[in-house]
Amino acid sequence: MVSTFYFVPLQNYSYIIYIMQKDVLFGKSLPKIKEIVAEIGLPKFAATQITDWLYKKNITTIDQMTNISARNREILAEKYDFGVDLPVKEEVSLDGTKKYLYKAGKNRFVEAAYIPEEKRDTLCVSTQVGCKMKCVFCMTGKQGFQQNLTAGEIVNQVRSLPERESISNIVYMGMGEPMDNLTTVMDSLEIFTSEWGFAMSPKRLTVSTIGLTPAMKHFLDNSKCNLAVSLHSPFEKERLELMPIQKVHNITEVINIIRQYDWDGQRRVFFEYIMFKDLNDTPEHAKGLIKLLSKLNCRVNLIRFHKVPGVELEGTSEKDMIIFRDTLTKGGVFSTIRQSRGQDIAAACGMLSTKETT
Ligand code: SF4
Repeated sequence: MVSTFYFVPLQNYSYIIYIMQKDVLFGKSLPKIKEIVAEIGLPKFAATQITDWLYKKNITTIDQMTNISARNREILAEKYDFGVDLPVKEEVSLDGTKKYLYKAGKNRFVEAAYIPEEKRDTLCVSTQVGCKMKCVFCMTGKQGFQQNLTAGEIVNQVRSLPERESISNIVYMGMGEPMDNLTTVMDSLEIFTSEWGFAMSPKRLTVSTIGLTPAMKHFLDNSKCNLAVSLHSPFEKERLELMPIQKVHNITEVINIIRQYDWDGQRRVFFEYIMFKDLNDTPEHAKGLIKLLSKLNCRVNLIRFHKVPGVELEGTSEKDMIIFRDTLTKGGVFSTIRQSRGQDIAAACGMLSTKETT
């Protein structure tokens, strides 16, 4: 919603101020745009023209929709704004990684991380300002929950990016728990994967979760995108100390649900495993993971932990990470060590936005 102020002069030289809330077009699906077009009396074909301008072209105002008549643009602009917002800040790492900061309400910010690699360019998007889940190692968790993003605000992180054309993959691993903002996340996936939208293959999109099982099931039943589950320990008691969600949806239940789906085709499941020194990096942990994930066609991504202010945990050494990876691989669980990127630019998720609000 965007507010427009109108000043109406009265006879006694005072004014009445009307505040008109305009809705935004960006972030709406083709069916929704069709409804809008019918409502305001534009020709039916204008719906596809509008979605083309929103998701396939590079304009930022209704006035630039040049294949729509000037009068119809005026009618549209009376009630709607285009709705694309540029990032308010950009930080560039020596390794080419970039962090973009977007405004999401008064004194609220979210981050997107652009990660260029040899064979792919990935954008990591946020779904919420802050997060409710309180994982002890996470900077975003420390912010607490502030608000859900809209589908438009999620898609905007891709659309308004200078590198937009080069993005081949999108991962929902930024600020927030995507499954805690499920309807909106599903709407944004529809925009990314529909022919009328960005027309991306679902295998290029990965949505992460800490294991909110009802939402995860809905996602798996209603989308073809990949899933990434934050695991961080195969042992229930220990995982609970890192991630309070374990009390509500334990990891065994999460894995049992995942086993009910087909992972032998195009769709992939990944397990994210941040490695903490002397906490979850022992041979017992490797054995526990092998048992938990046995015969599941998946990949474990081992992630280096980088210091987060106010968190006592330490990261596992490179040497021990390699030993851990090899043990998993020998035990039949395919695993890789994820490259750390952008360490010189507040790379941990939530750091930049926290810095901006403090
Ligand atoms: S790790 Fe993810 S789910 Fe946990 S607090 Fe951080 S953003 Fe939320």
